[in-house]
Amino acid sequence: MPGEFEVIRRFFDRGPARDARLGVGDDCALLAPLDPHAVFAISTDLLLEGRHFFAGADPASLGHKSLAVNLSDLAAMGARPRAFTLAIGLPEIDERWLAAFCEGLFALADRHGCELVGGDTTRGPRTICITVFGEVPESAALRRDGAQPDDDLWVSGVLGAAAFAVRERNAGRALAPDDEASVRLDRPQPRVELGLALRHLARSAIDLSDGLLGDLGHIVERSRVGAEIDWPAVPVDARLQSLGDEERLRLALSGGDDYELLFSAAPENRTAIAAVGARLGLPLARVGRVVCGSAIRVRDARGRALPVEARGFDHFA
Ligand code: ADP
Ligand code: MG
Repeated sequence: MPGEFEVIRRFFDRGPARDARLGVGDDCALLAPLDPHAVFAISTDLLLEGRHFFAGADPASLGHKSLAVNLSDLAAMGARPRAFTLAIGLPEIDERWLAAFCEGLFALADRHGCELVGGDTTRGPRTICITVFGEVPESAALRRDGAQPDDDLWVSGVLGAAAFAVRERNAGRALAPDDEASVRLDRPQPRVELGLALRHLARSAIDLSDGLLGDLGHIVERSRVGAEIDWPAVPVDARLQSLGDEERLRLALSGGDDYELLFSAAPENRTAIAAVGARLGLPLARVGRVVCGSAIRVRDARGRALPVEARGFDHFA
């Protein structure tokens, strides 16, 4: 069985750094900003077996998703991916598992030009901790605290497919791995290009990991504003149409794992934002507006407030 250094050499060290000044193999990686006026956007996510993924999860999907959730945070900041580190806990050295994990991981990393520059490898419960480094001009960063009353609220893609897949799995109705809802859950596509295109168009942004209402709650709180969502304008995945009204509302607005972007922008940017969606081939829907106050309201087609709970996922709740 290969040891720690053999694992690093065989699976994680891909030769001399391409973008970083120094990559895997020294005490630290060295990374210089490409743009001297940019700042580094840094984000980290910890994934635990049994908590964030189930034992026996497909390793290639896990490799993809571990990085995807981090790239999604860069997207939500308008940052360009540069590099990442990987701290990994493994119960044993399973070469097939590692090869598949790396295949999923590096396919996504290479697609976004994000280079693995270091990490840590240790024996223990299966754990994956990735830290990403992106770059963004400081004044262009899409922070959560930039929303202003009268901004439009926009969302990318369609919502609810990943939550639908979770619902089916929990009910023991396993979907095929190539089922579109499974793919949305297991291999989310971080909206990196959208984040970059929104740099000078959006005033605030967040990625949807915990559900639209919960994540909107973070923008509302940080920006000290309220929000209204027009339920009929929310892009809901087609397979939710078979569900009852309440369940559809719950999965679309409070289901997690969509990894789409929610952002606010001044109404004068509507045409430019629509053009971005067309250029990227990604639907962008105007789902509501920022208002004064602190409440989030969801309205039906006739303008009546719907009873919804605007709470996202809280690990300690
Ligand atoms: P240190 O003793 O300085 O912590 P390690 O022996 O843990 O260094 O790691 C040796 C080198 O391999 C370092 O450059 C580290 O960044 C890199 N490395 C270790 N584990 C990983 C991993 N999972 N992915 C990428 N690089 C790794
Ligand atoms: Mg170490």
